[in-house]
Amino acid sequence: MTQIKIRNLTFKYPDSKSLVLDNINLDIKASSWTAIIGHNGSGKSTLARLIDGLLMPTSGLIEVDGMKVDENTLGIIHQQIGFVFQNPENQFVGATVADDVAFGLENRQISRLEMEDRINSALAMVGMTKYKNVEPINLSGGQKQRVALAGVLALMPKVIILDEATSMLDPRARQEILTLLKKLKKEYNLSIISITHDLNEIELADKIVVINDAKIAKQGSPAEILGDKELLLKIGVGIPASQQLQSLLVERGVTIPQKYLSLEELK
Ligand code: ADP
Repeated sequence: MTQIKIRNLTFKYPDSKSLVLDNINLDIKASSWTAIIGHNGSGKSTLARLIDGLLMPTSGLIEVDGMKVDENTLGIIHQQIGFVFQNPENQFVGATVADDVAFGLENRQISRLEMEDRINSALAMVGMTKYKNVEPINLSGGQKQRVALAGVLALMPKVIILDEATSMLDPRARQEILTLLKKLKKEYNLSIISITHDLNEIELADKIVVINDAKIAKQGSPAEILGDKELLLKIGVGIPASQQLQSLLVERGVTIPQKYLSLEELK
């Protein structure tokens, strides 16, 4: 079932010279994992903010569960879609982990009892129950991201958008968060949309959407997209920095004597 439907979407910030998103058409299935990849500045975060109604389309349509995202539906849309950002530090406001998870629940006409219930189950879902009364500042990066995730889960969303949410974590913490998300997706039928440059994260997706020059350059299964080395090179995903630099220089017509390209020569 299509959960998010995007048709002929264009977007431009008031001060942008050209379209940031140009005629985007995309279907995201319920309980699926979608990775959005592309160069920095290609419009990935903007697309995520449009889906959540944090920005409104310049033209075109976005529907979540058959409901058009507009000023009238914002409240419901925010409830259905949770965001986890890159830097967990910026997401912390509470004196304790529990306060922090409670933050999003405030002003939502939820009783004290239900709030307590939701905090406890969200912390259990991310394996952070025993840190409930700890000051967030004393947590590791991976633990902070778990708490940020609990804050989102407490709102019982249908979709979680991860905007480079694992990019500041060390490889082990990153893997732990990804394993947790995979489990949550399966157990709670959550849809996940992850904006990422990380190959491990990309490989978890059911569908990969490549954004380039404000348009969807290609969408398909991991095999289809990760098999397209030319496209990956173009957007700089999963390609070593040295190779990216080399292809950039070639593209700009700079020729480098072969000996400088060989590490052997430097020894
Ligand atoms: P990505 O997430 O792929 O790095 P963004 O969606 O953040 O890309 O940005 C897309 C383009 O929109 C970039 O050119 C960026 O400079 C511009 N942009 C992003 N946010 C704003 C804003 N608030 N106002 C004006 N331009 C913006």
